[in-house]
Amino acid sequence: MDFSCPSCKSADIQQLSVIYENGLPDIDTTSKGRSSGVSYGCKCMGAGLLTSTGETSGSSQTLASKKAAPPEKLSYLLTTVFLFFFFIIIRIIFETFIEERWPQTLLFIVWAILTVALVYFVFQYNTKTWPSKKVAWNNSFFCNHCGNTFGHTK
Ligand SMILES: [Zn+2]
Repeated sequence: MDFSCPSCKSADIQQLSVIYENGLPDIDTTSKGRSSGVSYGCKCMGAGLLTSTGETSGSSQTLASKKAAPPEKLSYLLTTVFLFFFFIIIRIIFETFIEERWPQTLLFIVWAILTVALVYFVFQYNTKTWPSKKVAWNNSFFCNHCGNTFGHTK
């Protein structure tokens, strides 16, 4: 296997997943922690969670780690919230400017179709597209020499 950067041939490369995990806040790494010393680990985690719930995510994660983050699944919750507010806003507009009833019925039908389509899209993405993206991410490397990110196949 050729483990070097394809653009500058440097061997100083790192797997994206490694960069990502190394840059995560300590709370995350301890929660995944070892099985020995469970009680100590739990105390540590409890204290950590109690003291830093507010600033846990984000601030303590390194920039490199954020850049190397894995592809995310689409959220059903966000999709639903988006559809809900979309519906409310359109409905308010319709009620304010249109007297007749039928456009609202039409709106509801369109909205229902849109909802099914969007949920289906999210499902397709999460079950078909996302896994291959995750695999690609797992096989991706970052070159510490020139900053190139590249995929490593097999
Ligand atoms: Zn390079």
